[in-house]
Amino acid sequence: MIHLPELFIQRMHDQLGVEAPDFFTALDQPPPVSIRLHHSKGRCPFPLNMPVPWSKLGYYLEDRPSFHLDPHWHGGAYYVQEATSMILDAMLSTLVTDKQPRIWVDLCAAPGGKSGILASHLGPGDILLANEVVSGRRSVLRENLTKAGYMNTFISGYPSHVFDAPFADIMLIDAPCAGEGMMRKDPEAIRQWSPSLVQSCCGMQRQIVSEAIRALKEGGLLIYSTCSYSEEENLSNILHFTNTLPLQSIAVNFPEDWGLTTLEKQSVSGYQLFPHKVRGEGLFIAVLQKTAVESDNRGKSKKIISPFASADQMIGSIFKSSNHFQFRKNNVVFQFVTAEAEPKASELLMHLPAAEAIAEAGECKGKDVIPSHFVAMSDIPITHEGILDLDLDTALDYLQRSTNLSPALEAPGWYLIRYHQTILGWAKRTQQGWKNHYPMAWRLRNR
Ligand code: SAM
Repeated sequence: MIHLPELFIQRMHDQLGVEAPDFFTALDQPPPVSIRLHHSKGRCPFPLNMPVPWSKLGYYLEDRPSFHLDPHWHGGAYYVQEATSMILDAMLSTLVTDKQPRIWVDLCAAPGGKSGILASHLGPGDILLANEVVSGRRSVLRENLTKAGYMNTFISGYPSHVFDAPFADIMLIDAPCAGEGMMRKDPEAIRQWSPSLVQSCCGMQRQIVSEAIRALKEGGLLIYSTCSYSEEENLSNILHFTNTLPLQSIAVNFPEDWGLTTLEKQSVSGYQLFPHKVRGEGLFIAVLQKTAVESDNRGKSKKIISPFASADQMIGSIFKSSNHFQFRKNNVVFQFVTAEAEPKASELLMHLPAAEAIAEAGECKGKDVIPSHFVAMSDIPITHEGILDLDLDTALDYLQRSTNLSPALEAPGWYLIRYHQTILGWAKRTQQGWKNHYPMAWRLRNR
């Protein structure tokens, strides 16, 4: 039985009234397990017969498998994601209906679950910035975005006060919070909880939003979410934002049978997912629209100078059509975006020059071109033809960086390593044997 803090129990009784017993009963049930398939390379070994109602890519699983022993997971073919987070997918489907080029910002992005949902909604001229201020969490964000092979996606580590001029069309602030919605899944959320934690999170959320909102353009959308139930962190904050910032609350219509609870206060609304009403943990989400830019930003516009150029011959040789992309050298690595998204990518880099494209083409070493892991993980047509199909055991060997891949002699060259249609990375066949190019930091350790 789950042991919740007394003050939390009291507050939830006050908040939920007659629904409170159902809420506490739900918290005593095992947490559901769910995955979101990658929008283009979605594949997994599990039966997919229990869809998450609000996401066409989301599925509940019967139980919790050892995901790390499934090569599809390492290949970014699906992401293990809490079902309530996927409500963002349904929300974006109703909010974003045209394909005009946009800059999307995920301000608090690590480990990247919701960035993946945003990435699945990008149009051809759009770019996404996944920003995470905590450097230790940025590495897992990079790993997840690279394995997914998301094009036109950038990563950065800026604090919110740096976002001082309007360039973003859509901003997600999935704010750090008291984590009440994670109590069933994560005992640490129970241990850390206190009324003062809720208060301090509320203050931090207000500060983050009031600073970051300066980067949103007039008419742009702010999606605010937390995984808490407290009114302070959720609806009261939404009201505070509309009272103090140029923002207005936007209502969203979700089908009633999904079980979301609509919360309203004066002129603002938000949506809470409770574990006794939906299959999942707790999430709050609301949408706001920016009504005006701040007076000190009005009429300011800078000339955008593109830092991108066409590929040189060596790097271009990786791609079947390198003219579809624009490249920029960052230290020794070539990063790239699609030609269609280059204008928005240049605009982003003018505001946030340290942002780095997740899409790395590779490095030139002498006469050799070393293709990047990203190129293997994306679905971009490339010129390397060699593919080595592995069975489960050998695929797990590969993920452990084994070089014992295929005893039969293959022709020398670069090979994409594949398991049941999911690409896992690169290996190079030389006269001496196989050289495993799976990234060292991401290798499978606890098989
Ligand atoms: N959106 C992520 C996802 O779906 O995978 C989860 C984000 S988590 C709820 C909140 C994130 O905010 C954490 O990664 C945390 O490191 C970051 N964070 C903490 N303090 C912050 C601050 N002062 N400003 C911006 N982000 C902060």
